[in-house]
Amino acid sequence: MAEAEAEAEAEAEVEPESGVSARGTAILWLRRDLRLSDHYALLRACRDYDRVIPVFILFEGAFSQRGKKNSDSWPLGGAQRWWLHHSLRELDKSLNQLGSKLIFRQGDPLQEIPALVKETGASAVLWHRIYESQIAVMDDKILKVLEAEGCKGLPHRGDLLHEPDTVQSGGGTPFKVFTPFWRSLVKMGAPAEPKAAPKSIPAPAKWPKSLELRDLYLEPHAKWVFTIAEEWVPGEGGAKSRLRAFNDEKAARYVPDRDIPSIKGVSRLSPHLHFGEITVRQIWHSFHDATKGGFDLRFEPYRRQLGWREFARHSLWHFPNAPRAPMRAEFEQFPWREGAAISNDLKAWQSGLTGYPMVDAGMRELWATGWMHNRVRMVVGSFLVKNLRIHWLEGANWFWDTLVDADLANNTMGWQWAAGCGFDAAPYFRVFNPVLQGQRFDPDGLYVKKWIPELKHLPPKYIHAPWEAPLAELARARVILGETYPKPVVDPAKGRQLALEAYETMKILRIKSK
Ligand code: FAD
Repeated sequence: MAEAEAEAEAEAEVEPESGVSARGTAILWLRRDLRLSDHYALLRACRDYDRVIPVFILFEGAFSQRGKKNSDSWPLGGAQRWWLHHSLRELDKSLNQLGSKLIFRQGDPLQEIPALVKETGASAVLWHRIYESQIAVMDDKILKVLEAEGCKGLPHRGDLLHEPDTVQSGGGTPFKVFTPFWRSLVKMGAPAEPKAAPKSIPAPAKWPKSLELRDLYLEPHAKWVFTIAEEWVPGEGGAKSRLRAFNDEKAARYVPDRDIPSIKGVSRLSPHLHFGEITVRQIWHSFHDATKGGFDLRFEPYRRQLGWREFARHSLWHFPNAPRAPMRAEFEQFPWREGAAISNDLKAWQSGLTGYPMVDAGMRELWATGWMHNRVRMVVGSFLVKNLRIHWLEGANWFWDTLVDADLANNTMGWQWAAGCGFDAAPYFRVFNPVLQGQRFDPDGLYVKKWIPELKHLPPKYIHAPWEAPLAELARARVILGETYPKPVVDPAKGRQLALEAYETMKILRIKSK
């Protein structure tokens, strides 16, 4: 698709249908689009309606069992709750500045939306699509209910470069491999230019009733969130300044720095993107250089990362079972360790006490900041599913609860990749060696020393494998293995071997079951 077509499509999202004069009250249903700029639904509501009522509905009731093999439910994780609380507060403040405010409700949108329509006499409800099957099913039901009530349901395209059904292989099927997907998507041209926020939002004379934000009980009261709060500024303002800082200082050094976890060399925009505080279109166009005829290709590696985000969303759309089932069916037979036998190892992994410094540093970074560097996500993921042979859903669940950027598409595809069971995954037999990964990407041990202060006096030579240090060296560094820092939970030499044996068992079971 040419750029002009992308623009035309974007215009269609905000322009009224021809011949329809759509005045009256509109409900703007906000979900994962917590911003005012580049917001198609908001722009259209402001242009076409006399009054706009922005609403956020917290719906958790039906989602009680998360990420179980037979369940589609992923209720908000703890770190996300914290983020969402602050993001909503920021959004409400921004709305206030434009003469509006956010109405908070809690419950099933299938009931809450029609109730709001009745209460306000609204003639339309506008929202952005989310490309997750459970949400799409709910949206369809809501559209029907609204139609029956004589109210318009107006879903708008969500935060993607291109809609999932428009990017397909020559045979008309979804892509399963990233590179051809990306080539095809880039050929479709740049996404539409981002749109500015409206200057004002028409308010109703009487607002519908609303809960207070604090009544949603989103913010966890655990001490845990204190350190997370030091790290982030949720909200559209925070997103914009993070993008500015990345563009000004770091984007040019993205390639050499992006794999070094001790350096803040990546954009850290993931939670802002997840909650829709910034759009992928805004990021894309911030790298636009007219003199170079479009996207500044010096930043191509960064743009490819946005491509992975897009690929994850398109994949989830086409393969909606992926959050709970392996995309490669043969992995249904994988002999995962299960039951009581794994509980100590799983706890050690979660608490950053496996005895492998690179893994432990990552898991502690996650706990302290709600985020983990991508390189280290790959290392800790591989360690859990391969060296410990614990089901990838255990990892996905823990990430879901602790990541501020927990995102069903990216997390699912990240874990399917790490476990080797995604379509475009690391082959299972490629077991990341946490010691070698540490030596390569954290050669001076700066990352490990930051998150594992008990190892800070060990020289770089031993920092990624303290069990190899001579006793005198350990004593000098005040490290007592098994006391001040754990011994490895799994024998360093055996972990890989056991993983490969399990893989062979899976293949045999697969043949037998045919
Ligand atoms: P940058 O390097 O600055 O990249 C910019 C943006 O591109 C990111 O914000 C993100 O939206 C996207 N992106 C980058 N890498 C990937 C990727 N591999 N897959 C998909 N999108 C990508 N990302 C999440 O947003 N939420 C998750 O829940 C999540 N879980 C993961 C689990 C595992 C096991 C793995 C291996 C990766 C996971 N990722 C997840 C992908 C990736 O680690 C993060 O997107 C990235 O670390 C976020 O940091 P950043 O914004 O600085 O990334």
